Amino acid sequence: MTDRRDASPRPQTIGAAHGVAGDPAFGAVAPPLYLSSTYEFAGYEQPRRYDYGRAGNPTRDLLAEALAKLEGGAGAVVTASGMAALDLLVGRQWPGDLILAPHDCYGGTMRLLKARAERGHCRVRFVDQSREAELAAGLAERPALVLIETPSNPLMRVVDIAALAGRAHGAGARVAVDNTFLSPAVQRPIALGADYVVHSTTKYLNGHSDVIGGAVIAAEAGEAEELRQWANVVGSAGAPFDAWLTLRGLRTLFARMAQQQANAMAVADFLDRHPAVARVHYPGLASHPGHAVAARQQDGFGAMLSFELAGGVAAVRRFIAAVRFFTLAESLGGVESLVAHPATMTHADMGEEARAAAGIGDSLLRLSVGLEAEQDLIAGLEQGLAACRS
Ligand SMILES: *Cc1c(COP(=O)(O)O)cnc(C)c1O
Repeated sequence: MTDRRDASPRPQTIGAAHGVAGDPAFGAVAPPLYLSSTYEFAGYEQPRRYDYGRAGNPTRDLLAEALAKLEGGAGAVVTASGMAALDLLVGRQWPGDLILAPHDCYGGTMRLLKARAERGHCRVRFVDQSREAELAAGLAERPALVLIETPSNPLMRVVDIAALAGRAHGAGARVAVDNTFLSPAVQRPIALGADYVVHSTTKYLNGHSDVIGGAVIAAEAGEAEELRQWANVVGSAGAPFDAWLTLRGLRTLFARMAQQQANAMAVADFLDRHPAVARVHYPGLASHPGHAVAARQQDGFGAMLSFELAGGVAAVRRFIAAVRFFTLAESLGGVESLVAHPATMTHADMGEEARAAAGIGDSLLRLSVGLEAEQDLIAGLEQGLAACRS
């Protein structure tokens, strides 16, 4: 088999073509899907590259390779979900190890960290990473792992990855960044100092709302190997078919992100000027407090945003009933546009007090902006906003 791959292809090329035309058996252009759970030994005491599907699978490994290259890491582990990816890092901690996490992290992440800490598997402390005193007190406790999510969900708060990673390393911690909201097409945390990148590949990487999956990418080869072994120990590997679908979705990641970001910017501008909207949270707006940091550390501003309706809960009800082209659903990152009401959906489990502390009000709506025509999306939102007045 001739290797036609360039020594250092650009990220767009990796996304579109990593593993293409690599089939030694029939010359298939699209990478084949290997479903087999087990592999024949070449002979007595002669295992081949693969022996058993929990430990390794060619289809899953191809996706892992592509993700590691896109994130600039040494290796990656593909898991059955984003939560399984996070737990690969969390479950590997020892009793007493402290994890410093953002107070407004993904709800499932908060639930996982609390559950692990309650059972004594590790300790956890949630801090507002934008408050210097809280952050400094957390770092002074010498955490083993600092978790970063940027932009945050649903208020799109931006964390300066390079600055926080530098301080975390100074305190002896490793740094993990959940890059689900942007994907490596827009933000590459390892280049900014992170030790690990975590993904829910369910979102932008697959991009078609038809797979649950996750991945951890490690900056160092030794760490990547340890994580791969740990995934085999706990059995958290993703299914081959899911990996195959995710690799298929990855082919168009850069094109999708470019168009979805452009649509999101247009939507944010429209909402920002609308009288029925009290406030828009989108790092692409010059008025957003994280705009300068986002402009520096990201290639664009992503396709997630949130906004507050001026008319409170009554307006939320009318808006949701009237809006077009935005489906009322959780999740994000697909080609279709979605709207979610965090207080009653994604962040309902948080409780009213914690929501209030995190700034998630009842009139807040979150949008995942898809690939539809910009004019249709704006017309669909206009219809929802017009209903708020009645
Ligand atoms: C969805 C999500 C997760 C969890 O991923 P699953 O694939 O649903 O398990 C973790 N972090 C963020 C930021 C997410 O959006």
